[in-house]
Amino acid sequence: MTDVTPPKSASQHTVYPYRLRVAIAVHIYDLIDYEVTAQQYAEAVIGARVKVPFMNRQLIGIIVEKFDSNTPFHGQFKLKTITKLFDEPALLDQQVLHLLQWVAQYYQAPVGEVVLSALPNFLKQGRPYLLLAYHWQALTIKENDADTAKLPQKTSKLFAAYQALQLHRNGATEAILNISGISTTQLKQLEKRGLAESFQQPIDFQPTAMQLAQMPLDANSEQKSAIKKISQSLGKYQGFLLDGITGSGKTEVYLQVMQKVLEKGQQVLVLVPEIGLTPQTIDRFKARFHTDIVLLHSGLSDTKRLQAWQQAQTGKASIILGTRLAIFCPLPKLGLIILDEEHDLSFKQQDHMRYHARDVALYRAFKQNCPIILGSATPSFESLHLVEQEKLQHLTLTERAGQAQPPQFKLIDLKAQKKQFGLAEPLIQHIDAQLKKQHQVLIFINRRGYSPVLMCGACAWQADCPQCDTHLSYHLKPRPILQCHHCNYMQPVPKVCPACNHEDLLPIGHGTARIEESLNQLFPDYPMIRVDRDTTTRQDSWQKIYQRAHRSGAAIFLGTQMLAKGHHFPYVSLVTILDIDAGLMSADFRAPERTAQLIMQVAGRAGRGQIKGEVLLQSLRPDHPLLQSLVTKGYASFAKQALAERKIGHLPPYRYCVLIRAESQNELYNVDFLQFALQHWASFGEAKVDVWGPVHAPMPKKAGFYRTHLILFSDSRVELQRQIAPWWQWLFKQQRKFELRLTLDIDPQDLG
Ligand code: ADP
Ligand code: ZN
Ligand code: ZN
Repeated sequence: MTDVTPPKSASQHTVYPYRLRVAIAVHIYDLIDYEVTAQQYAEAVIGARVKVPFMNRQLIGIIVEKFDSNTPFHGQFKLKTITKLFDEPALLDQQVLHLLQWVAQYYQAPVGEVVLSALPNFLKQGRPYLLLAYHWQALTIKENDADTAKLPQKTSKLFAAYQALQLHRNGATEAILNISGISTTQLKQLEKRGLAESFQQPIDFQPTAMQLAQMPLDANSEQKSAIKKISQSLGKYQGFLLDGITGSGKTEVYLQVMQKVLEKGQQVLVLVPEIGLTPQTIDRFKARFHTDIVLLHSGLSDTKRLQAWQQAQTGKASIILGTRLAIFCPLPKLGLIILDEEHDLSFKQQDHMRYHARDVALYRAFKQNCPIILGSATPSFESLHLVEQEKLQHLTLTERAGQAQPPQFKLIDLKAQKKQFGLAEPLIQHIDAQLKKQHQVLIFINRRGYSPVLMCGACAWQADCPQCDTHLSYHLKPRPILQCHHCNYMQPVPKVCPACNHEDLLPIGHGTARIEESLNQLFPDYPMIRVDRDTTTRQDSWQKIYQRAHRSGAAIFLGTQMLAKGHHFPYVSLVTILDIDAGLMSADFRAPERTAQLIMQVAGRAGRGQIKGEVLLQSLRPDHPLLQSLVTKGYASFAKQALAERKIGHLPPYRYCVLIRAESQNELYNVDFLQFALQHWASFGEAKVDVWGPVHAPMPKKAGFYRTHLILFSDSRVELQRQIAPWWQWLFKQQRKFELRLTLDIDPQDLG
C-alpha cells in the first residue's frame, strides 16, 4: 500500500506530516490522500467517515489508512485538506476493510466504490451513526375485571402478539419485534388498549443470549456425520461442500452446526440467493433459535437496512440472513458462514462490481479463521473442482429425510409424439391423471409473455427489436404489445404485416401466458396459478401462492424459474419442464451445467410430502448423452462426465477466465480497439494466455450498442491477475479516447 516512488527532482518533493488515505465512491482505481492537522490525525479513526472535497463536490469517504510524518509523501500534486471528521467509532473494521480492498484488487473494481458499497445508504449520505430507536414493552395487568377487559380474545392474533411481547421482559426495538412476527400495527393496537408502551432510546447493542426455541431433529447417520465433521472445524478455517439432494435435510445440518456456534456467543452469516429469502426460510431459523436475527437484502427500506446492519456490525445480532451484498457486512464475532444454494447465479453480481459472493465468502472465512459451508443439491462445477483439489471437504446427503422419496424421471421424445398447444400428448395424459387424483402439478417454461415471436404467415416477416439482435415477445395482456425482454423496448402490435401488408400475423412458440391459455382449455375445471414477472411482483402474491401450495386438492402451478427455487410444494406429484432443449443446444459451455441444475431443482419440487413424485421432460433430443446421464444416473454422474469434457476443452474451472467487453455504436470500432488492446498485452508482462476473439457477443447488439468480446484463458490465476491489473488500468484510460464502453469480468459466469 505504501508504494513510495522516489522523487524525480527536489521541486516535486513535498513533505506532508499527516495524511489520511480515503476511499470515496468515484470511478478511479486508487484511494486518495488528504492532508490533516496533527490534531485531526490524532482523532481520525480508521474505518470511520470523513468529509472531503473532490473535484467540485463534497463527498463522504471512509478512512482506510493513516500516515504520519515518518512516512514522507513524494508527489507532484498539492494535497487537499479534509472538510471534517465524523465523531464516531469505526463503521468498517480492519478485516472488512481488508476484504473490500482485496475484492477491488481481485475484480479490478474502483476501490472507493467497493468500500462505500459496504455501507447502508443512510451512512453513505452522511446521516449520524447513533440513532434512536422505538422500543416497546408489554405492560402487565392486574387480575381484576377492569384490567382483563383490556385483553383481546384469547384466540386472536393480537393476543398472541401480546404474549410474544411479554417474552421480551426489558422491551425490544420495533425492528426486532417486527422480525419476531409482531407488526407495528399490532403494537399500536396494544398501546391503545393499555397493554404496551413505547419509548425512544438509543439503540442498545448488548447481545442477548441465544435460547433454543425448539429441539433439534434426530439427525440421520449422514446428517450426523456432516454435523460432526463441521463441528470439529469450529474456530478455524475449513471449507465444506454439503452436497445433498433436495429434501435431504441440509437445513437441519446448518441448524445443528449453527447452534454450536451461537452457544459460543458467535455470529453466523447465512447467504441465500436473491429469490431464496422467502418467509419460509426465515421462519425455520426463528422457530429453532430465540435470538437476534436480522435480514439484509436489497428490498429493505433505508431505515430498516441501517438498523439491521447496525445490529450485525455491533455484534448484537447473532444470525445474519442476507443476499450477496451481506458478505461485506462487518461482523465482529463471525464464527461460521453458510452459503445455501451455492450454485445459484445470483451470488455473482453481473454489473458494476462483478464479484462472486461465493469466492468472496471463501476468502473471508479463510482470513477470519472460521468454517464455511457451501450447500447445494446441484453443486457448481467450481465447487466440485475445489473438492477435486481437496480445497473443500465433500459431505454428502444421499437420501431424503423423513418419508419423502426422490422423484422418477421420464423423457418424452417430442419428435415421436402428437402435440397439442406445444404439449406432447403423453404429457397431457399424465397431467390429467394426476389432477384426477386430486394431486397438484407444476409446469415450467422459462419464457414469459404469450409467444416469443410474432411472424407473418405470408412472407415470414418477424417482429424484431430495433435495438437488439432478438425477436420481440408478443404479450396479450393487459393489452396486446410487442416487448423486448432485453432492453424493454415496446411497440403496439401491427394490424398488418409491415413487409407485405398481409393480415395473417401469427404468434410462434409458447410463453407462460399462452401455455396458461392452452391449459385452461385442456383442464377448465382446475384452478391454475401462474407465477412469472408479469403476474407475481409483490410479496403478497407470493403469500397467496404459498397458501395454495399448502392446501391439498388439485391445482396447476405454471411459471418460470421464479417458481423453481427452494419452495415447498407438499401436494405436487408431477413436475415438467417444457423447454429444456434451448439449454441443451446453447453454444455457452456452461449451458449443460445450468440446464442440469434447473432440471434437478425443478425435480426437487416433486414428491416432497407423502405423495410420490414424477418428473417429465419433453425434448427433441432425448438421447442427448448428458441428459441421459442426468436422468438415469443423477447429478453427480452427470457432473463428472461434464467436468471431464471441460477438462479436455481446457475450460473453466480447469482454467481461469477473464472477459473484456467493448460496446459502441460501431462493431468494427470494437474489433479494432480489442485488437489494439491485445497487441499491448505482452508489454505488461509475460502471462501466457489463450485468446478467444475479438468475437461478437452471443447477443451482438443490445439496447442499440454493438457488443464485442475478448476472452482470455490462463492456467495460472496468479499470473493472470498480476498482468491484468496494469493492462486493464491502461486500457480503461484509453477507452475515453476511443469513445467506447469497456467492462471487465473476472471469472465471468455469463458470456452473454
Ligand atoms: P434440504 O434443505 O436439503 O432441501 P430440508 O432441510 O428442507 O432439506 O429437509 C426436508 C424435510 O425433511 C424438512 O421438512 C425437514 O424438517 C425434514 N427433516 C430434515 N432432517 C430430518 C431428520 N433427521 N428427521 C426427520 N425429518 C427431517
Ligand atoms: Zn408479410
Ligand atoms: Zn431490445
